[in-house]
Amino acid sequence: MKGEIKNNKKYNNDSRQRRPTRLPRLVPINRDGGQVSNGVGVKVSEIFESIQGESTYAGLPCVFIRLSGCNLRCSYCDTRYVFEEGKEMSIDEILSRLKGKGQKLVEITGGEPLLQEGVYKLTRELLDKDFEVLIETNGSIDIGKLDEKVIRIVDLLF
Ligand code: SF4
Repeated sequence: MKGEIKNNKKYNNDSRQRRPTRLPRLVPINRDGGQVSNGVGVKVSEIFESIQGESTYAGLPCVFIRLSGCNLRCSYCDTRYVFEEGKEMSIDEILSRLKGKGQKLVEITGGEPLLQEGVYKLTRELLDKDFEVLIETNGSIDIGKLDEKVIRIVDLLF
């Protein structure tokens, strides 16, 4: 079928079907998203320091805690390594890793961090230790269980 290319997307000529012929694939998978946390701590893919690039906190130095597992499989995903890889860590281990970094702004990201039950304990412990806590979620899981002091960054995937 003939079509036109606009904004790097191919469109059908039929005006009733003016939409990209290829949409990103968001494939929901099972609820645990491939992570195997035992619920005591969390399964962590990596902890690293960088500059915050999202929200009104953009530009500020921040520690990122990237949790393993995701319940989606977006075709454009650039963090596929989190689907399975990671290391089970206790909350205390994570807190002691943060202590040495001297940062008070922390973002918990993924993957999809809300898949792991331990994330709620982790956010509470961080808040108790006076960290400012951001969480970035893919928007597929209810954010209502999070403490109201947690700043939520919700990605709109469509
Ligand atoms: S939600 Fe994020 S981590 Fe999960 S597949 Fe999509 S882009 Fe990758």
